[in-house]
Amino acid sequence: MADAKYRTPKGTNDVLPEDHQYQTYIKKAVRHRCRQAGFKRIDTPIFEKTEVFERGIGSHTDIVEKELFMVGSHHRDPDEGDFALRPELTAGICRAYIEHAMHMLPQPVEFYAIGPCFRHDRPQKGRYRQFHQFDLEVIGLSDPSLDAQLIHVINKIFGDLKIRDQLTMQMNNIGSADNRKAYVAALKDYFIGKERNLPELDRSRLTTNPLRLLDSKEEDTQILLKKAPTLAQFIDDASKTYHETVLEYLNELGAEFEENPGLVRGLDYYNQTVFEYWDIKTRGKNAVGGGGRYDPLIEMLGGQPTPGIGFAGGIERIIWQMKEAGIKVPNKDQVDVFVAQLGPDAKKKCLKLISQLRDLGVHTLGALGEASLKSQMRLADKFEARYTLLLGQMEVKSGSIILRDMQAGKQKEMKFEEAIPAVTKLLGESKLDTYTMKDHFSEQDED
Ligand code: AMP
Repeated sequence: MADAKYRTPKGTNDVLPEDHQYQTYIKKAVRHRCRQAGFKRIDTPIFEKTEVFERGIGSHTDIVEKELFMVGSHHRDPDEGDFALRPELTAGICRAYIEHAMHMLPQPVEFYAIGPCFRHDRPQKGRYRQFHQFDLEVIGLSDPSLDAQLIHVINKIFGDLKIRDQLTMQMNNIGSADNRKAYVAALKDYFIGKERNLPELDRSRLTTNPLRLLDSKEEDTQILLKKAPTLAQFIDDASKTYHETVLEYLNELGAEFEENPGLVRGLDYYNQTVFEYWDIKTRGKNAVGGGGRYDPLIEMLGGQPTPGIGFAGGIERIIWQMKEAGIKVPNKDQVDVFVAQLGPDAKKKCLKLISQLRDLGVHTLGALGEASLKSQMRLADKFEARYTLLLGQMEVKSGSIILRDMQAGKQKEMKFEEAIPAVTKLLGESKLDTYTMKDHFSEQDED
């Protein structure tokens, strides 16, 4: 490993089988809860015209300004414009809503998506250049009950994953675009004459995106902000009522939250409700997920004014949370049976046996080579097979087979035809992996 010539690019990870078990489990919980709530799955390309992200997310946000991965610029057709890898899923889904005239469908249109996102960020623990999100979007209607219901579905997902208790949900209402415009003007006024005391980055933010000062990590900025006007002072009555109604509905659903007037979320497209799920110990450091209402977004992308609300959860951070809490997910990769054989006749017979066992839902390996029965048994041990079936030249002649229980170290000879019923009985119905066959028509989206 240490002397590997090629490694994953900085900030990216191979998803090895152990983490895939977590990923699969998380995706199952997401699909299950989303389907229950009427969400349908959507996938958009992993790259889009750069404008889709610039217009929606905002060209002065970190995500667009510093973290976009540009693609194919060296051989692009100049008429096509620039492309970038998606840093998140919402903008692409809203582009799809407009492109496919989904305003013609019954509203709201509810989508969920699961897939990789890319941000050219400085890699560190919990912050990668390629990571995975699951994403829920409710587009076409604005009503406090939709905000509360969306949050409730997310709570259910985190509950299924057994990490809801480790998280705190932070809630705020950031008002309308007009409210924020008025606030930004007041904030700029307040900083007149104080610019020199701001760290360089925040000084430039004051002109490009002053709201970003609120979640600045700079101590000097935070000190200056203590006496600055607050966003809460600029929220209009309609937004306040909206917020109170969302909270009332959340209470009705028994959903827990903490109000956080400092939570703004960085992107230009948000208005009204914003929320984030934080680890209770590390708080805002590495949010597990976040979302909010984005009523202006579809119009920013060239569609008719259409409200929406969405949420994105970070799969790597969820896996981290689950591991922290000692949550194990079922291992579906175990080997039930290893078939060992010797001689050409036995090997031929085994091929069919292996295939029949697999069709019945028994995880089966075997007929891997020409090694001695003894070394095949050692291999069966290394694969941690529960049982081994042995078919040597003698057994082929007498029409028998040996079934060995690897844990008990006991074995029994039986008629060849009895092997399959014996194995399936020993494993038991519940261990048979027939899932994809039974649910074939409802589970096409396994990945
Ligand atoms: P955001 O919209 O930026 O709040 O992202 C939503 C969620 O995606 C975050 O709460 C994280 O769980 C996850 N996320 C965002 N950026 C990264 C990253 N660079 N690496 C890993 N996870 C991320």
